[in-house]
Amino acid sequence: MHEVIAAIATPPGKGGIAVVRLSGQGALELADKVFRAADPAKKIQTAPGYTALFGHFYAAGRKCDQTVALVFRAPRSYTGEDVAELSCHGGSAVVRLLLDACLAAGARMAAPGEFTRRAFENGKLSLTQAEAVMDLVEADNAQAAAAAGAAMAGALWNTVQTMTEKLLTLAGHIAAWTDYPEEDVEELSDAQLLGTLDAIEDRLEKLVREYDRGAAVRRGIPTVLAGAPNVGKSTLLNLLTGYDKAIVTPIAGTTRDVVEDTVSFDGVTLLLADTAGIHDTADPVEKEGVRRSREKLAAAALVLAVFDTSRPLSPEEIALARELSSVHGRSGRAVLFLLNKSDLAPVWSAADLLGDGAEAADNILTLAASDPHHRAALEKAILKLLRLEDFDPDAALLANRRQLACARDALAAVREAKAARAMGLDLDAVGVCVQDALTALYSLTGKNAADAVVDEVFSKFCVGK
Ligand code: GDP
Repeated sequence: MHEVIAAIATPPGKGGIAVVRLSGQGALELADKVFRAADPAKKIQTAPGYTALFGHFYAAGRKCDQTVALVFRAPRSYTGEDVAELSCHGGSAVVRLLLDACLAAGARMAAPGEFTRRAFENGKLSLTQAEAVMDLVEADNAQAAAAAGAAMAGALWNTVQTMTEKLLTLAGHIAAWTDYPEEDVEELSDAQLLGTLDAIEDRLEKLVREYDRGAAVRRGIPTVLAGAPNVGKSTLLNLLTGYDKAIVTPIAGTTRDVVEDTVSFDGVTLLLADTAGIHDTADPVEKEGVRRSREKLAAAALVLAVFDTSRPLSPEEIALARELSSVHGRSGRAVLFLLNKSDLAPVWSAADLLGDGAEAADNILTLAASDPHHRAALEKAILKLLRLEDFDPDAALLANRRQLACARDALAAVREAKAARAMGLDLDAVGVCVQDALTALYSLTGKNAADAVVDEVFSKFCVGK
């Protein structure tokens, strides 16, 4: 066990309660120096694990706020060490006073992520689980929280563990066969070798492939509303957000600015920008709006392109549709063509805008943005287009670039092992590649990861975690 560290574990600002966490050797004795139970017979250091004591905390001998002390005994605590959590009222001054009292009693201020790092070092968490703790703290939508929760529960760890075990068996077999020729080790058949390598390659490919989806869910999907003035972009924004944020007026060109908003459904968050529309204009203010619209369009992962079926298409709209059609699907960008105002008599059809066969395309939706009943169909079309309708946040997902890099390294090594075998190289060469794959997977979950990697992971944590 290490020296006692202390930090405020709750976010800054006012709240019902605030928590100071203490962890390390002597944490319970130290907590007794700042906390006195209402029942003088009770002490934190003699309380059993998983119990709560009510009393007050003291700073410089002065009785301060009411306090509840939670007691955790090693190894049954978050960090695996003795832990005391002191809860007082949630004002920033009072909790600061409590923290200062703990520091004065001999605790050291915790570094960012130090509690979680100790949990990792004490074998309470793998590196991927520790990273999931941080993701859960950062998650601001339900799906991201679910994905982080699954990672914390070990979904990714289990998947990687299964692969590691298979590779270890393989490596052991190869080593025995090549290093002890005099022993009667059964030769590894190609079917056995390739069967294992193929299965691991498939699994790693899937993890790498799914990374982008996971990342999109976590961060939110940059989305742009595009279209000519007055086609119903603001109305569509209101349909998605469910309230009148954008100004809707029948005068063309009213939405001059880029309106930022976020909207969540089925746990997916769209980072929405309503734009001034892309059209030629002499008005300098509108020109600036158009420039910004183009910029947003270039950065978007999803474009909701709105057209008004109740009035003839302009040449600019046809040009926009052509431009967006060519963008759709390129480098992961999706464009949903929304043929709006379906409640009015249409003067053109999907084929007029996007050519023959357009009606059947899954990136075209006819709707009336002014009708709240069309919201569900719109959400469904968006999820389908982003291939998120079957997104399973409970599945194993790579959570960050570090994990992605490890998975890619492992994948490359597995492919090399297969190639070495296909070229007829001897098992020794295959064994080296299998070792490389193992090393990459070990560093993914933090087993044998270099100190630098561990430092890098925990440096991103906030204090108190
Ligand atoms: P924007 O300039 O593209 O943002 O367009 P707005 O959202 O401001 O809408 C322009 C006009 O079209 C407003 O008068 C809206 O009420 C109207 N509008 C928008 N969507 C629909 C629709 O689905 N049906 C009908 N009938 N009118 C709509």
